[in-house]
Amino acid sequence: MSAIANPALKVFVAQIGDELLLAQVLIRRAGATFELRHVADRDRASEELRELKVADLRGLAQFTASGAFRPLKSEPNLQNGWRSTAGGEAELESALNRLYPGAIADWFAAQSPEPPATNYREFTNRQTGMYRITTMLSDAETAQVTRACCHKNFCLKRRLWTVNGLASDAAEEKSLIPCLEPCALLLELARKAMRIEQEEKMELELSPGETATLMAALQIALAQPASIAREADVDQPANPRRLQLLLEKLAALPIRLTVRTEE
Ligand code: SF4
Repeated sequence: MSAIANPALKVFVAQIGDELLLAQVLIRRAGATFELRHVADRDRASEELRELKVADLRGLAQFTASGAFRPLKSEPNLQNGWRSTAGGEAELESALNRLYPGAIADWFAAQSPEPPATNYREFTNRQTGMYRITTMLSDAETAQVTRACCHKNFCLKRRLWTVNGLASDAAEEKSLIPCLEPCALLLELARKAMRIEQEEKMELELSPGETATLMAALQIALAQPASIAREADVDQPANPRRLQLLLEKLAALPIRLTVRTEE
C-alpha cells in the first residue's frame, strides 16, 4: 500500500462523516476502518451479507447479478448481497478504484471552481478515423444521443461536459461521481446515430395514438434490460441505448395532424 499522501483521498475521506453514498456503494466509517456495501443492503444484518476482500471487488464489479458483463462500471446494476471492510484510507481508495475506477480523482478534480470538463465538440474534434463522423451530429442530435446514453437508468455519473443547448446533470439525479468527458460508449452511440442519420429515410405516418403505443412498447422493452441486447453493442437494433434514443426522437417530434374525415 502506498504511503505517499494523496490529497484527493484526504479531502474525500473528510467528506465521509459517519457514512457517504457513492453511486450504489454505501461507505460507513467504523473507527479507523470503513465498511462498504450496496446501498440496497443498507438495513441488512452483516451476517446476511457475503464477506468480500477488497481484492475481490474488481471481480464483483465486472458482472451483473445475472452474469452479464458490465462495460460501464457506473451503470446502476452493481450486484448486492456483499460487504467488504477497508482497513484504512489507502485500502478504501483501492476498494473504490475497483468498484468505480478513477472516481475519487475525478470527484476531487470536480471540486475546483472550474472543473476540467471536455465538452462534446472539443472531444470529438480530436477524433480521427471511424469516429470522425461524430463531429457531424448537430447540437440537437448530440443532445438526444447524450440524453439517451447518459440516462440515469444507464449511468450514475453526473455529466459535467455539455454541448450547446444541453445542461449538465444535477448531482441529486445521479451521484457524486462526475463525468468529465464523453466515454467510449457515448462515442460509439454517437457514431451509430450519425450512421443512422445518413441512411435513406422512409416515410412513416403515425397517429398520436400509434406513436403513444410505439413509445409504450419501447418503455416496456427498456424495463427488461436483461432480455434485450448487450449494453455495449450499439449495432444491435434492440440495444437499450438505441431504444432510449428512439424514445427521445419520438418525444421531440413536432406533431403535424392530418385528420381523415367521414365521406
Ligand atoms: S459519457 Fe455519459 S454514459 Fe459515459 S460515463 Fe459519462 S455520463 Fe456516463
